[in-house]
This record gives sequence, structure tokens and C-alpha cells, in this order.
Amino acid sequence: MIILSMTRENSGGAFLQSTIQQLRKASEILNIEPGIRLYMENSKRTLIVSIPIRMEDGSVKVFQGVRVQHNNARGPYKGGIRYHPDVTVEEVTALAMLMTWKCAVVDLPYGGAKGGVVCNPKEMTKTELERLTRRYTSMIYELIGPLVDIPAPDVYTDSQTMAWIMDTYSQIKGYQVPEVVTGKPVSLLGSLGRNEATSRGVAISVRETAKHLNKPLKGAIVVIQGFGNVGGFAAKILHEMGAKIIAVSDSKGGIYKADGLNPASLLKFKAETGTVVGYEGSKVISNEELLMLKCDFLIPAAIERQINASNADKIQASAIVEGANGPTTPEADKILHEKGVLVVPDILANAGGVTVSYLEWVQNLKRETWTLDEVNSKLESKIVSAYAAVLETARKYEVNLRDGAMLLAVGRVAEAIKLLGIWP
Ligand code: NAD
Repeated sequence: MIILSMTRENSGGAFLQSTIQQLRKASEILNIEPGIRLYMENSKRTLIVSIPIRMEDGSVKVFQGVRVQHNNARGPYKGGIRYHPDVTVEEVTALAMLMTWKCAVVDLPYGGAKGGVVCNPKEMTKTELERLTRRYTSMIYELIGPLVDIPAPDVYTDSQTMAWIMDTYSQIKGYQVPEVVTGKPVSLLGSLGRNEATSRGVAISVRETAKHLNKPLKGAIVVIQGFGNVGGFAAKILHEMGAKIIAVSDSKGGIYKADGLNPASLLKFKAETGTVVGYEGSKVISNEELLMLKCDFLIPAAIERQINASNADKIQASAIVEGANGPTTPEADKILHEKGVLVVPDILANAGGVTVSYLEWVQNLKRETWTLDEVNSKLESKIVSAYAAVLETARKYEVNLRDGAMLLAVGRVAEAIKLLGIWP
């Protein structure tokens, strides 16, 4: 039965449990009544669909898809759609919950959602991916909409996927509805600055952290794990801000250059060769060595659980700014806190992407298009205010920044639920 692949036991279950634990911890500190905590522990709606697709070889395959809508007390549901062979309902549920907190931390008028389809896009043709996207969209059609639930790209989905979703939704409606998804191509009313938005948010978080630690950003030593969409642009923006990027890595390995890499030329090198390894004048290092380098800022921007109980005590960074989702395990968090390493959590540090998604949606609703400067300055003020609010909350409750961000987010969502009341 294919459906088992959506519900089978895997790390998604542990991920969901630790996400719920974080909520319970925050609810306890905030003294939230048990019923409201339970309300937030459970997703409002989960739709599982079986998506039949005629493959290009003439056969029919059935893919399992899901859309989880966690909470909409603060506004329409918002969250990406992921295409991956390991997608499970539990993982998507945890990610939907994290979207609720992320939107609340940045004070966006959104709730949280996430979608996923169990598939391997690397083994599918573009036509098959288009058919899958359109059929999935038609099957979750009644749950999404510009004022209801607004999807966006996630792992292995991109602006082309969003264009297909926008078109399918619009075809059913009978008129063009660009505001039903964000992360669209700029030529289809996507926003300028969306591609680099997450990285820009990460760079702003690094700059705010430098201010908080009373360190100059100019000349600060930065190490980045993962030189993809988030890590690559973050390196470029931080270099422009005056930081020195001494090491980066990708899935093929890492590189080190004591007097600093040139991210713009490295981006070109990676585009040509597919990896950072072999870049002129750099020394090859392993990903593990990279994580141990002495630096001011370490930015994990690859995959989850990279900083864990086995390596946390060897980290020599003054601060970690989480570009990736979930790069630090709870055990590592504890070790880092005891060592005095400041960790800027993912729900704050990588919220630039959803922030510019929000700005794209507002432009679409108003039928406006803003300049890159307008978008970037609105992004800047959102992240700076969120950073200050998280710092203030962490100080007030004498907790680390991750707990501070959770307390801020959970407090905001719980307040909205209480003010709205439980109907009827
Ligand atoms: P990406 O696929 O563009 O880049 C990932 C990079 O990590 C690649 O360079 C890859 O080679 C490298 N990598 C993979 N495994 C590695 C390993 N074991 N060691 C070192 N490098 C490794 O993905 P992305 O969009 O840059 O996303 C990176 C992370 O940021 C993910 O956790 C994602 O969920 C998170 N994130 C992304 C966005 C966004 O807007 N793209 C927004 C929020 C969070």
C-alpha cells in the first residue's frame, strides 16, 4: 500500500514529538491554560490525497500527497510544498507547526501550513512533474486560496511549480489569481528580492548578532555550511557587508582560505563545476572540520541535525546563526548554551523568505509591483524588529534566544486564540 509511505515510522515522528515538546515547554513558562495548549498542539485540518498520474511511458502511478493546516488564528495559513521521497504526515505536520511560530515571530498576519508529496523529482520528467502539481492542486483546491491558505516553494519545488499551481487554481476559478501562491517567477507577479530573501534575512540576523555581542561585522570571520540557495547568497551579502568568509562547503566537501574567499566568483565557479571543491587558492577540508573552525559566526545552511551531541562541544564559533531549518539538535543546544555559544534560531534567522513571500502577496492583492529597494527595506525592518522582540523576550524570561523566539511566537498565537474565543 503506497499510503504507508506517508505514515510509516521514520525521523518525522521524532521531529514532530520534539516540536510538540518545544510548544509544551513554552506553554508552561507562559502559564497557558491546558485547553489552549492542546488547541495549538493539534493541527486544525489535514488532507491526505492519492494523486493518479499518467507517466510518460504510458503507465499510471499513484502518489500520496498531504496538506496540513496547523493554525490560522493570526491570519491565512502559509507554508511551502515539498516534493521528496521521504515526506511523511508527521514531518509535514511538524513543519506546519513551525510555520505558525515563524510567521508569529516576524509578526506576519499569517498562520502556518505545509504540504508534501511523496515522490522523487530527480527521477521524473518535467511533464510528469507538471501533471503531478496540477492534479495535486486540483485535489487540495477547496482548502487553498488567497485569503485561506497560500502555498510557496520548499524542498524540490520552485517558481515553475508555483506558476503551475497559480494557473491550475486560476483555470478552475475562471480568472487569474496570482495571490494564491508566492515564490512565483517575477514575470508572473513574483516579487523582486524573493530569491535572496532568506539569505538577506540571515545576513541581517548576523549583523544584529554582531551588534548584540558588541563585535564589528567588518572583518568578522564567517564559516558557512552549505553553499546552495541560502548559504551562497548569504556569503555574498555578508561579504558585501564587510565580513570575511573563510570556509564554505557543499555535499561534496568543504574549502578553506584563511584570508577570505570571494563569494561572487565562487558562486560562478560552483555554477560551472557543480561544487565549491577545487576553487582556486583554497584548501580542501571535510564538513566536520569546517564545523570546528574558530570563527565569529557559524552559519549552518545545509540540512537538519548537523550540529549534534557528537560535535557540539568542539564548536569554536562565538555565535551560530541558523540558515537551515533544524540544524541543531536539542542535545547540542544544551551543550552550546553551557559553553556560552549564542544560537540565533531558525524561526528568526531564516524568516526572510516567508517575509518576502508576505510582501509578494501584499503586492499581488494591491495589484502593485515594488522596487527591489522597497522590498529590501521592508524586509530589513521586519527582521530587525523581530530580532529586537526576541532579544527582549529572552531577557525578560532569562532564557536563550531559541526559547525566547518560541515564547514570543506561542504567546502571540495563544493571545489571538483567546481573543477570538472558542466558537460556538
Ligand atoms: P539548497 O539545496 O539550495 O542548498 C543546500 C546546500 O547544502 C547545497 O549546497 C548542498 O550541496 C549542501 N549540502 C547538503 N548536504 C550537505 C552536507 N551534509 N554537508 C554540507 N553541505 C551539504 O537548499 P536551500 O534552499 O539553500 O536550503 C538550505 C536550508 O535552508 C534547508 O534546511 C532549508 O529548509 C532551509 N531554508 C531555506 C529557505 C529558502 O528560501 N530556500 C527558507 C528557509 C529555510
